[in-house]
Amino acid sequence: MNRFDHRKYRPFPVIRKTDRRWPDQTLSAAPLWCSVDLRDGNQALMEPMNVSQKQRMWALLVKMGFKEIEVGFPAASQPDYDFVRWLIEHNQIPADVTIQVLVQARDELIERTYQALEGVHKAVVHVYNSTSPVQRNKVFNQSKEGIIEIARKGAMKVQSEAAKYPQTDWVFQYSPESFSTTEVEYAVDVCNAVIGVWQPTPQRKAIINLPATVESAMPNVFADQVEWFCDHVNQRDSLIISIHTHNDRGCGVAAAELALLAGADRIEGTLLGNGERTGNMDIVTMAMNMYSQGIDPMLDISIADDIIATVEACTNIKTHPRHPWVGELVYTAFSGSHQDAIRKCLAVQAADEPWDVAYLPIDPQDLGRNYQSVIRVNSQSGKGGASYLLEQELGVTLPRWMQIELAQPIQRETEIRAGELTPADIVGVFRREFMHNDGRYSLASYQVDKQGNHYHLQAALHDGNQVTLIHGQGSGAISAFADAMHKAMGMDIQVVQFDEQAVEAGSDAVAMAFVQASIRGQRFTAAAQDGDTLSASLNAILNTVNKALQHNLQVA
Ligand SMILES: [Zn+2]
Repeated sequence: MNRFDHRKYRPFPVIRKTDRRWPDQTLSAAPLWCSVDLRDGNQALMEPMNVSQKQRMWALLVKMGFKEIEVGFPAASQPDYDFVRWLIEHNQIPADVTIQVLVQARDELIERTYQALEGVHKAVVHVYNSTSPVQRNKVFNQSKEGIIEIARKGAMKVQSEAAKYPQTDWVFQYSPESFSTTEVEYAVDVCNAVIGVWQPTPQRKAIINLPATVESAMPNVFADQVEWFCDHVNQRDSLIISIHTHNDRGCGVAAAELALLAGADRIEGTLLGNGERTGNMDIVTMAMNMYSQGIDPMLDISIADDIIATVEACTNIKTHPRHPWVGELVYTAFSGSHQDAIRKCLAVQAADEPWDVAYLPIDPQDLGRNYQSVIRVNSQSGKGGASYLLEQELGVTLPRWMQIELAQPIQRETEIRAGELTPADIVGVFRREFMHNDGRYSLASYQVDKQGNHYHLQAALHDGNQVTLIHGQGSGAISAFADAMHKAMGMDIQVVQFDEQAVEAGSDAVAMAFVQASIRGQRFTAAAQDGDTLSASLNAILNTVNKALQHNLQVA
């Protein structure tokens, strides 16, 4: 056989359905969301989250409005156990938020899971075992009957252990793991065995979670599986049908959406899609898909910069610049015809009318972003050569994102002047827009101490006639400075873009820094020039703060 030979694989069997109803359905409300960032997302990381990363992720999930959050696998992992205890013992769980923990259908693990949860007001205990043919035959070496018995016994143990902790409001959840590759009739048999043990009611529902543990078919096939399951499972009115898709074929979100059409109630996923292999289904994308159709997603995605910064800090995985809805480049047009169409639409878009702009499916400002057009850089292209001319004048190479930022004020200036700008004009626009030396704060002095990988920074800031001393720490001088500003002024600064360079023009080698920072969910871009790279960087950050203040953002 050839190395790359399609005959190695088989087509996924389809369900011959004659009563398919999901294609005629529409979505009109958000599902119940459950974040699995701290469990599925965490277990897939090269380096699992440490305690402070987990706490930061937890705080974000609560802030976004998640009401169900899977927080770990406490019986299998001591750090997860400790984190669950921290949440409970330090009263970190708001009254309207329910934590969920995962456990295999094994007695000793179920016992330890309940120990981890002792004292919690409410919790979902999520038990699972694997049900697909490959898992039965090759991994567990069990018959169909044997697998059902594991599920039934697990369900009984979950129930009997719960009875030992009557002060907690328990919710039971079962997953036939690898549901998407399990014969659908058999998946119903296994789940019916569990439901027979738990005897849920419409008032006290159980959750049956259907995972596409590995995405193995087109999303329409998965929707058929879900619809078939919902039609045949016992006591449907006493169940919450939950969906947990992965993204192996790149259709994790589509499969989850079609599964909602097919009758599901609840969606498990992660922020920006971190998770095993290609990841879990991305809740940010799915929530924004709904939002863009006029549906309240019941999650706050407006803090997109905060979401990205937190996920990147907790997972050490960068966000793709073209990630749906929130990537760095998704509200940027490079093509002249796109720019033209967008400008025409924006000019007539009224604030109180439904959004209707070519090439922009939503208003970027909803996510704290702006529409950005990029003028192509070319030394012969007149105003289009702004970045090029500026670079010649200042002796620096603008980072791509800075070119994007520069394009808009240059565009405005050419419109105001109705003519071509000289290189000096372009430098003037750049200094006025990004270097704000007349802002409220300026840097008087600073001192940095490095201890191992840790930076301590002290700085003195001029604030009118006063001098303010600030100090902070972080993994770099920049983050230590952001920490110092946060401590002194309660101002949350997230550096979104950062570049610094030596300036080549002139005999005194000086440095220029470019910073884009997210302050209270809004982005500000600034630059600064100085005798050394660090003071240029700190001044650039201060300039973003000055800009934010000029936009009337209050200092707490
Ligand atoms: Zn998963």
